[in-house]
Amino acid sequence: MSMIIAIANQKGGVGKTTTAINLAAGLAKKNLKTLLIDMDPQGNATLTYLDAEQVDMSIYDLLVDPQVTAEQVIRTSELAELDVIGSRISLAKAEAKLISEFDSHFRLKDKLDAVRDFYDYVVIDTPPALGILTVNALVAATHLIVPIQSSYYALEGTDDLLDTYEKIKARPNPDLEFLGVVVTLHDRRTVLARDIREQIQKVFGSKVFRTTISKSVRLEESPAYKQSIFSFSPRSSGASEYYSLSEEVIGRV
Ligand code: ATP
Ligand code: MG
Repeated sequence: MSMIIAIANQKGGVGKTTTAINLAAGLAKKNLKTLLIDMDPQGNATLTYLDAEQVDMSIYDLLVDPQVTAEQVIRTSELAELDVIGSRISLAKAEAKLISEFDSHFRLKDKLDAVRDFYDYVVIDTPPALGILTVNALVAATHLIVPIQSSYYALEGTDDLLDTYEKIKARPNPDLEFLGVVVTLHDRRTVLARDIREQIQKVFGSKVFRTTISKSVRLEESPAYKQSIFSFSPRSSGASEYYSLSEEVIGRV
């Protein structure tokens, strides 16, 4: 059985996609068969690993068309152990399409059941909202990782996210486990950033991963070159941090 990890925080720009891209690559690098699912209409994770023409069918079709199977939308990437279900901007329409369907929250879970045994890990990137797409990810997931940006308003909004997590755990997905919080975009040089990390630690305790992801230009650049940080800049701090995050994740599940 695979571990299905949803990366979620309804706050925008906190490093969800960067974490999904590089955690998926870190797991694949360890020869663990990994599926990356992009549930963000912006499609940034998708375009890191796939060319636009490979996304002729996407997560949108999987969610809205009952006839479409996971096999039909899974694409192989250039990394041997990494497959991808891509997204396109059309995914933004999924919410409106699904809202009137009685099983709207279960679409991803039901479709994934058919393929999850092929994978050791499934990593799901979610959009910055707590709507139907993120709920689908949390209903399908076995584990939740929350990236929190090391910034002044870091903890703003995490209550709503944890509330959604508790509700989903109470009913549709009692097995969902809160795997941890990863502090991202951290600037080690500033006292403020260190204070904020301590604050996050106070709230989340041992749930905070030991690995902190530093602010790094390399991490920002790598998706534009269609590469994970491991191939784009293997000796960078970002590569070693995402590598140790991957190891921590494997150790925790
Ligand atoms: P959204 O909520 O819009 O989906 P997100 O939570 O997925 O955003 P990212 O897209 O991963 O966040 O990151 C936001 C921006 O910050 C991007 O331009 C990304 O390249 C950059 N970024 C992410 N992590 C880092 C980092 N550790 N160092 C420098 N830049 C980073
Ligand atoms: Mg994103």
